[in-house]
Amino acid sequence: MTHSRILYGIGVSPGIAVGPAVVLRAQLPDVPSRIVPPEAVDAEVARLGEAIGSVLQALERLRTRARERIGPEEARIFDAQILMLEDRDFLGQVEQLIIDNQLAAERAFEFKTLEMRALWGGSSNGSLRDKVADLTGVQQRVLNRLLGRPDDEQLHAHGRPAIVVTRELTPGLTIQFERDHVVGFVSEEGTRTAHAAILARSLGIPCIMGMPHALERIPAGSEVVMDGTRGTVVVAPSPEELGQAKVFEHRRTALMDELDRGAHAPAATTDGHRVVLRGNLDLPEELEPLARHGAEGVGLLRTEFMVVGRSALPAEDEQVDYFRRVARRFAGHPILVRSYDVGGDKFPAAFRIESEPNPFLGWRAIRVCLDRPEVFVTQLRALLRARVDGDIRLMLPLVVSVDELTQSEELVAQARHELIRDGLPAAPDLPIGVVVETPAATVLADEFAARAAFLSVGTNDLTQYTLAVDRGNARLAGRFSPFHPAVVRQLRHLQTVAAAAGTPLAVCGEMASEPLGVFLLLGLGYREFSAAPTALPLVRWLVQRLSSADATHAAAEALAAPNATAVLTALERRMAQLVDLDLIDAGWLPVHRDPGSLHRRRSEG
Ligand code: PEP
Ligand code: MG
Repeated sequence: MTHSRILYGIGVSPGIAVGPAVVLRAQLPDVPSRIVPPEAVDAEVARLGEAIGSVLQALERLRTRARERIGPEEARIFDAQILMLEDRDFLGQVEQLIIDNQLAAERAFEFKTLEMRALWGGSSNGSLRDKVADLTGVQQRVLNRLLGRPDDEQLHAHGRPAIVVTRELTPGLTIQFERDHVVGFVSEEGTRTAHAAILARSLGIPCIMGMPHALERIPAGSEVVMDGTRGTVVVAPSPEELGQAKVFEHRRTALMDELDRGAHAPAATTDGHRVVLRGNLDLPEELEPLARHGAEGVGLLRTEFMVVGRSALPAEDEQVDYFRRVARRFAGHPILVRSYDVGGDKFPAAFRIESEPNPFLGWRAIRVCLDRPEVFVTQLRALLRARVDGDIRLMLPLVVSVDELTQSEELVAQARHELIRDGLPAAPDLPIGVVVETPAATVLADEFAARAAFLSVGTNDLTQYTLAVDRGNARLAGRFSPFHPAVVRQLRHLQTVAAAAGTPLAVCGEMASEPLGVFLLLGLGYREFSAAPTALPLVRWLVQRLSSADATHAAAEALAAPNATAVLTALERRMAQLVDLDLIDAGWLPVHRDPGSLHRRRSEG
C-alpha cells in the first residue's frame, strides 16, 4: 500500500466537498489482547466506568434527538441500549473479569458481550435474538470509547459539516445524518449501482466508493477535499489544490445551471423523435427538484425508502397521503410506484429479514411481498385509494415468472374488495407493470409483454444477474457493465418484443442516467427514460443534441462489438462527434466507463 496523499476510488455522486474527515468504523473494532499489572486493576475498572458513563450520555442525547426528529418508536432503539448499560449485574460481571484475570477493560467487556451474543443468538426466542442487534450497538460504542477510536458523535465535534469515511455505506447510513452535518461520503466498499450510491446521487451529496483502505489512509479529523465526479480524495490539501477544486466545482455548477435552463423544453432528438423523461423518486425531498427539472411524472418510486431507517411500517393513510401528494405534484402524468423492494442490500427493521448467505439471490422484492400478503395488501389498498384521484400505477420488482404477476393481480382484487367492504373509495383498476431485471424476465419477455400493462428495464439488477457480478462489490467494479454484450443484446430483444406487442417500455435503471447509456438506448429504439433527479437535466440536454439516426448507427456498431470496452469505445467515438464530452465530464460522472481502466486505476491507487 502506498501512502500518497491522493487516493483513488470510484466517483459515484458528482461534486466537490471540503471538510474534516469523520471516520466511522461500522464493523466491530478489533480488540488487542492486553493484560494489566495488578496495581493497575483498579484504574482499569474506573476506566470501564468512565467509558460507560460517557456512552450513556451520548445515548441519552441520541434518544432525545430521535424522539424530537423521527418519533417515539425510533427512540426506543436507544432505550434498549441504555437499559443494557444500566444493568448493574452485567457490569458487575465485566468488572469481576478485570479483577480476577487482570484483563484490560476492553478485553473483559468484549469477552462478556461475546458470551451473551452466543447465548441470545442461538436462542429460539425471537425477542432475545432481536437483542443481539442492540448488543452490537452497545458493544461498538463502548469499545470505540475504550480504545480511543472515533464514533458518530464525532460528526458534531468539528462544528462544521464533515466528510464521512466508512467501510461500507448502507442505504440506512446514507439517510441517517442531518443534511447540513454531512457534505460528502467516502466508502471502501461499493460501486455506482449500490443502492447507497443511488441515494447519495438523489440527495446531491458527493460520494466516492470502492476506495481501498480508506479507513487507514484518511486520518480522522484531517482536512480533506474530495471529488465525487472523478473519485479522488486529497488529504491535507494545499491552498493550490483547494483553489483547483473550487474552480472545478464552479465549472460544474455553472454547467448544471445551464442545463437546468432547458428544463421545460420537451425532450426531442434533432430529427424530431419525442422522448418521454420521467424521474426516479427515492425520498420525499426529491419531489420538488424532480418537478423543477421538468420530469413528466415518476418512472420509478422506490417505496422501500418509506421504511428504511424506521422501525415500523407506514400506516395505510400515511401511504395514501404520500402517493396523493406525488400524483398532485405531477398532475396529468403517471406515477409508477414500485412495490417494496426490500432485501438484497436494504433491510428495514420492520421487515425482520434474517441474514442470508446470498441476499441478492434470496428473500427480496416481490418474493417478500407475496410471502407477507398482509404488508403487500396494505400497500395495494393505499395505491387503489390514491388512484381515485391520480394516475397511480404499480410496478413489480425482481419478477421471474408470470405466476408472480397473477398472484399480485389476485391480491389487488382482494385489496379492492376489502376497501369496498370498509366503505372506502377504491379505483376500479390498477395497471400493473413489470420491472425487467432478471434474465428470466427477458427470456419470458413475450409473455410479460402480453400480460403486463407496461415494462420497465432495471438495468442495475439486469446487469448484476446476467453477469453474476454483485452490483455493490468494489472488487468487481471493473466487471460490472450494462454495456456488456450480454446485456446490450437483451436490451435489443426487449425493445423488439415490446414494440411487436405494443406494450409501453421504459428504462428506469441507472443506464438511463448515463450519457452513453442514453445514446445507446435511443439507438436501440427506447423512447422513455426514468432518470435520477440530479441527472435529468443532463439527459434532456443530451437528447436535444443527438439524432436518432446517429444513435441507430452507434447502436448497430455496439451490437456487433465483442465486449463492453468495444461497445463503449464505439459509442464514445460517435458521441464525441455530436457533443462536447469534456463538458459532460465536468458536470457528471466521467463519460468514459471503460471497465478495464476503472480497475487499473483502483489497483494503482
Ligand atoms: C434496477 O435494478 O435497475 C432498478 C431500477 O432497481 P434498483 O436499482 O432499485 O434495484
Ligand atoms: Mg432493481
